[in-house]
Amino acid sequence: MANQGSEKERRHELVIVGAGPAGLTAGMYAKRAALDAVLLERGLPGGQLLNTELIDDYPGLPEVDGRELAERMTQHATKFGLLIETVTVKGIRKLEDGDFRVTTVEGPVYRSQAVILTAGGTPNRLEVPGEDEFLGKGVSYCAICDGAFFKGETIAVAGGGDAATEEAEFLTRYAERLYLIHRRDQLRAQKILQERVFTNPKIEIIWNTVVTEVLGDERGMNGLRLRNLLTGEEPRLDATGLFVFIGFRPNTGLLEDHAEHDAGGHLITDRDMRTSIPGLFAAGDVRAQLTRQITTAVGDATTALIAAEKYLTELKDQRAAGQATGT
Ligand code: NAP
Repeated sequence: MANQGSEKERRHELVIVGAGPAGLTAGMYAKRAALDAVLLERGLPGGQLLNTELIDDYPGLPEVDGRELAERMTQHATKFGLLIETVTVKGIRKLEDGDFRVTTVEGPVYRSQAVILTAGGTPNRLEVPGEDEFLGKGVSYCAICDGAFFKGETIAVAGGGDAATEEAEFLTRYAERLYLIHRRDQLRAQKILQERVFTNPKIEIIWNTVVTEVLGDERGMNGLRLRNLLTGEEPRLDATGLFVFIGFRPNTGLLEDHAEHDAGGHLITDRDMRTSIPGLFAAGDVRAQLTRQITTAVGDATTALIAAEKYLTELKDQRAAGQATGT
C-alpha cells in the first residue's frame, strides 16, 4: 500500500531508481503487474536518450529522435499509472528486517521490499589539465546539448567507441572540420558507425593518439596538446571544441552495502538480473554485460521486473507463513 509511514518515509513494494529506458520499462511492467511501485529520477525521464539526436537501432522505429523516444516511453509507462517522483537518490541500504531504505538529497525516504537499480552511468573524463577549466568553454560531454555552439568551427572528439563515432557524425552538421582522436589504430565502434565516419569528408581520424592538455585563454579553448603513442611526438591541434566520449562509469556509488561488481564497477547479476543482494535487481548500463544498447536495457528491465515480482510474491508467502507459525 503506498505512502503509509511517517511524513518523510514512503512505503512501496518496489522502488525503481533511474528513469532511462531500463527504468521506464521496469516501471511500465510493474504497473501492468499491479505492483505498488515508484520510479525515482533526479531529472527529466529519458536518461541517455535525452542526449541522443537520432536513434536508428530501435526495432520498429528506424529513425527516431532520442527525446521523442524518451517522451513516448514516459507516456507509455504513466499510461499504466506509474508514479514518477523527481528526487535525487543518495543512498540505498538493506535493513535487518529485509526492507530497503532509499534516502534522497531532498529529504524523502522510501522503504520497499525490493529495488531495481537502473541508474545508468556518468561519462568518463580524460582527467587532463584544462579539462575542468574549459568545461562549457569548449569542453563538452554532450553533442546534442552543445553541438550548435560550434557552427563552422574546427573541433575534436576523443574516443573510438559507438558514442564517439555516432556523436562525431552528428557534430559534422555544425562543425566545418572534425578530428576524431583515438588511442589505438582501430575503432571499437560497430561497423556501420565506423563506415559513416570513414566516408564523412569533414572527419579526419588521428590514430594512436591521446589528448594530454586542453589549451586556451580567457575567451575559451583554442587548441589541444596531443601525444602520439607510437612516436612520442606532442603536436598542438588548433580546435575550439573538444567532445569527450570515452565510456561511462556506472552509477553504483548509491549502494551503501557491498554488491558484487566487475573491475569497472558494473554490478554482476545472474540471468534474472538478481545482484548479490537479495531483493536488489539491476538493469541497463549499471550491469556488467557485453554491450549497452537501448534494446538490451529494455530487455534487462523486463527480466528484472518479472524476477522482482516473483521475489515479492515469495517474500509475502514467507512473511505470511512466519506470522502463522509465530516465527
Ligand atoms: P566504449 O564502448 O567503452 O568506448 C570507449 C572508447 O573510448 C574506446 O574506444 C576506448 O578506447 C576509448 N577510451 C577509453 N578510455 C580512454 C582514455 N582514457 N583516453 C582515450 N580514449 C579512451 O564507450 P561508449 O562509446 O561511451 O559506449 C558505452 C556503451 O554504450 C557501449 O556498450 C556502447 O556499445 C553503447 N552505445 C551504443 C550506441 C549505439 O548502439 N548506437 C551509441 C552509444 C553508446 P579503446 O577502444 O582503445 O579501449
